[in-house]
Amino acid sequence: MREFRYERAPDRATAVALAGQSAAKLLGGGTNLVDLMKIGVERPELLVDTTALGLGAMETLADGTLRVGASVRNADLAQDQRVRDAAPVLSQALLSGASGQLRNMATVGGNLLQRTRCPFFQDVTKPCNKRSPGSGCPARASAVRDLAILGASEQCVATHPSDMAVALAALDASVTIDDSTGTRSLPLAALYRLPGDRPELDTNLPHGALVVGVDVPALPAGARSGYRKVRDRASFGFALASVAVVLLLDGRDVADVRIALGGVAHMPWRARKAEALLVGHTVTPARVAGAIAVELDGAQPLRGNAFKVALVERLVTSTVCALADVDPDGGSA
Ligand SMILES: Cc1cc2nc3c(=O)[nH]c(=O)nc-3n(C[C@H](O)[C@H](O)[C@H](O)COP(=O)(O)OP(=O)(O)OC[C@H]3O[C@@H](n4cnc5c(N)ncnc54)[C@H](O)[C@@H]3O)c2cc1C
Repeated sequence: MREFRYERAPDRATAVALAGQSAAKLLGGGTNLVDLMKIGVERPELLVDTTALGLGAMETLADGTLRVGASVRNADLAQDQRVRDAAPVLSQALLSGASGQLRNMATVGGNLLQRTRCPFFQDVTKPCNKRSPGSGCPARASAVRDLAILGASEQCVATHPSDMAVALAALDASVTIDDSTGTRSLPLAALYRLPGDRPELDTNLPHGALVVGVDVPALPAGARSGYRKVRDRASFGFALASVAVVLLLDGRDVADVRIALGGVAHMPWRARKAEALLVGHTVTPARVAGAIAVELDGAQPLRGNAFKVALVERLVTSTVCALADVDPDGGSA
């Protein structure tokens, strides 16, 4: 057994100072980090517990933004009436993840920074550029189903596993961070990165940075939102593909739409090309399918996951159509 130290940081500055040490890791609910420690993927010498930092609250700001602390549990966020009323997509995404017991422990900060479920990353007997840079990527030649089709590199085809982050991407959420330079806010899209030639990095954060919380801006009046997820079993499974949609209609035309994809890339993938093709047009199944097909033009599926291209097209089409009250099979609902 490997020994490690544990400290419950009394305040944010101490947490950042402790977590900045080279072999330290911040600890949220521990549902991902401790699992990875047990199988030898993570080997921290110091765990810095974040639960005494006062980050367990949610508040609504004057402009309607929902500010959610990093220690808020996934179960509490999913059940919060403000979330269920104003942003069902977030509640649905959270409830589609993991299990009730896990959601009771999992925190917002830990959910955002959970690590990939690529089986090669989780198997220390195998090479993996994300776990051990320069060792290789057997995943690319494998028949594994849950790998990336967008934005991957020669070095890494892993996907980001969080459902919550996909919803937050569609909600244009921002993340507040403490690091050695102070406190700053960055759009969720700027938190994550594609693997490129540094697949060991999941995010653009410096080592030891503390996630303080997320800000979820209020949606425009009348906006509808929803989350759909496809997985190999009905519950307790990670997404093969998922989609979060925020839709604002002007009559039958799309005034604004935001589409974020999960299970297809190293980060939640905003389908901005598809969004641009839909704004100003009436929702029809053919138009949505055509728009998402353009988004997927650059997809580079592997041996085991080519099915994801058609799956994503159908998933997005059915989700957008349902939100627009349009029959995805052709007629008007
Ligand atoms: C069987 C199983 C099924 C699952 N299914 C799903 C699923 O379908 N969908 C899904 O989205 N998730 C799923 N999960 C993952 C689960 O959601 C995550 O384990 C959980 O969200 C991680 O949160 P945590 O607070 O326990 O994080 P921890 O395990 O404590 O930490 C995870 C990472 O975040 C870092 N961290 C934690 N808090 C902070 C902070 N405040 N600032 C900076 N860094 C921090 C840690 O250092 C660590 O690197 C599943 C997990 C299991 C075990």
